[in-house]
Amino acid sequence: MRTLFLLTLSTFLFAGVTGEGHHADHPSWGYAKENGPSKWGDLAFEFHICKEGVNQSPIDLNRFIEADLPDLKIIYAGNATTVANNGHTIKVEVMGKDEVVVDGIPFSLVQFHFHTPSENKIKGKQFPLEAHFVHESPQGEFLVIALMFEEGEPNKALQKVLNDLNSTVGSKNLLHEMFNPGEFFPKKLDYYRYSGSFTTPPCTEGVRWLVLKNSVEASKEQIEKMHKIMGDNNRPTQPLKARCVLK
Ligand SMILES: [Zn+2]
Repeated sequence: MRTLFLLTLSTFLFAGVTGEGHHADHPSWGYAKENGPSKWGDLAFEFHICKEGVNQSPIDLNRFIEADLPDLKIIYAGNATTVANNGHTIKVEVMGKDEVVVDGIPFSLVQFHFHTPSENKIKGKQFPLEAHFVHESPQGEFLVIALMFEEGEPNKALQKVLNDLNSTVGSKNLLHEMFNPGEFFPKKLDYYRYSGSFTTPPCTEGVRWLVLKNSVEASKEQIEKMHKIMGDNNRPTQPLKARCVLK
């Protein structure tokens, strides 16, 4: 029964569309020399923003403006349900009502996924692991909450993902222990904010980025296990151009 279920899910996985919102499965882009970030803009017409965009992600957060940013209220009531290795990232899907309200707009959590090492940097500092919690509004706008991990104590939420993670590309497994994705977040939700893009093709802009100031810990073994499966799946930082980061 379980085998059948997995086959069905895998088929579904490969029917996805591209983008950070789904992180699926255009065959030609990746992180190798021949299909890596510097080539993305030339791989397909629909990827042209990857080279022509002016508000691209990730960035090195280093040009700040003091702002009176409102408290971030992450209202997650749903569960992480499946973990997939789609060849670009380790992606966790969710079910139920997970919401964050920004600019008066309710954004619903669609999925979260990981990058090793981190894509964004904070004042020049790169972290060994970064999670992206991808949210979408009813109007189809995107918001990503970025969470940095530092090496330290084992991370309990991450372990629940790792327990059911399969290194086979295209695999997708149910989580034996489903959990509230909010378990990942630090107690203090102070954040930086900037306007950016998907960090994967088609590099669509107009994405609200909230980068949490406080990192959380994961063990060396946990981070290594993620890295072994994903490799270096970090797009290099992109020019700020006219942008500042609110803090
Ligand atoms: Zn990402």
